[in-house]
Amino acid sequence: MSSIAVIGTGYVGLLTGAGFADLGNDVICVDILAEKIAMLRSGAMPFFEPGLEELVRRTAEAGRLHFTTDFAEAIPTADFVFITVDTPPGSNGKADMSRVESAARSIAGSLRGRTIIINKSTMPVGSGGFVAEIIRCHAPRGADFAVVSNPEFLREGSAVRDVREPDRVVLGGDDAEAVESVSELYATFSAPIVKTDLRTAEMIKYASNAMLATRISFINEIAAICEEFDADVRVVARGMGLDPRIGPSFLEAGIGFGGSCFPKDVKALAFMAAEKDLHPQLLNSVLDINADQRRRFARKVLSHLPVPHESTVAIWGLSFKQDTDDMREAPSIEIIQALLAQGVRVQAYDPVANHVAETLMPTVTYCRDPYEAAHGADALLLLTPWNEFRQANMERVLEAMRQPVVLDGRNIYDRHEMEEMGFTYVGVGR
Ligand code: NAD
Repeated sequence: MSSIAVIGTGYVGLLTGAGFADLGNDVICVDILAEKIAMLRSGAMPFFEPGLEELVRRTAEAGRLHFTTDFAEAIPTADFVFITVDTPPGSNGKADMSRVESAARSIAGSLRGRTIIINKSTMPVGSGGFVAEIIRCHAPRGADFAVVSNPEFLREGSAVRDVREPDRVVLGGDDAEAVESVSELYATFSAPIVKTDLRTAEMIKYASNAMLATRISFINEIAAICEEFDADVRVVARGMGLDPRIGPSFLEAGIGFGGSCFPKDVKALAFMAAEKDLHPQLLNSVLDINADQRRRFARKVLSHLPVPHESTVAIWGLSFKQDTDDMREAPSIEIIQALLAQGVRVQAYDPVANHVAETLMPTVTYCRDPYEAAHGADALLLLTPWNEFRQANMERVLEAMRQPVVLDGRNIYDRHEMEEMGFTYVGVGR
């Protein structure tokens, strides 16, 4: 059993804390937001993630998971301190490291004895040295520390499973003993552990996200070409994915990637490259194609609305992907804003993200179920592939709509079935 402090109780921090508490460690999670800590202490979750509430409740009730705003309560007794604060995009796409810097200062002030600081937030290459330098400058005399990079690969929506069954663990550090100690924290998993230096570990995270984003932009570009040549991108992707050198993952054409990671990490990697006088053409194109994909979809919607300002559009799904209420960089935002700008009335429904979207887009009408959203609509836009939309009662939808037009931004419906029912069906790349 180890004593662990986790700094930042967002998606990564809360999952990391609860995950290590579940393994029997003594974990304390720290955040600067007092209301978030009060919420967590009361057993409420600050965001939706399947299985998280039960995991947090069980480990907290067992006395192994605690929450505080006080670094002095968490740090002195910790053997390991995970930094899991947010690193949002700053100007030019450069990662904003101000929260990491502030967290590192606060950690340093409370260090006692030997502590291993673990950078789990996604941080630009070279951040291991940056964090070590801040701690060196602010730690009290006698404090002994090492910094290890341990990037996180969990996916929102399946994060509980991902922290329990990671497909790999990456550890980077210049202090071999510290890297070994952190690898023991992961010893119960069967996942391969890649041990390397700090900078290589940091790069693995960016390169991984850039690769996944590239595959999405690649298939979206192919989808645009398919549309011009009457080919079906879904079948193209299946035919491609059966080649073991290619594989089937991340070849689903749609309205592009969003979320708090892919857009920001590709931008940050492109920024790092440009800073070194490189010309990251592929990364820039990945971002351009992604931006185009949303605009193209919005244009397609408008082309089905003869008089936009007299039209109503139903939106099914707002979060950037299914099984999360995370709206950060969700494609739905840009698409809805493009419609609102033309005077379109928007009625939206998301199984869990309505309350988050309300604060971002207050002029949208939020509905209690998909059928209420479809009522009187001139077009229905499927923007997030939640399971409940896959087998929705489309006869009921057909009756509820004013014009039976479905624009399927995630290609979840069968064109022939939809057309047989009487819908005008528009997919992506089909
Ligand atoms: P988040 O915004 O959900 O949570 C960050 C938390 O850190 C917030 O609760 C915030 O209040 C807290 N915080 C900020 N500054 C602090 C400070 N000085 N001291 C204590 N707490 C502080 O962020 P997230 O989505 O969990 O992402 C965290 C990091 O992990 C990012 O670098 C992200 O790129 C990376 N990451 C995220 C995911 C994901 O799916 N969300 C996956 C892999 C990696």
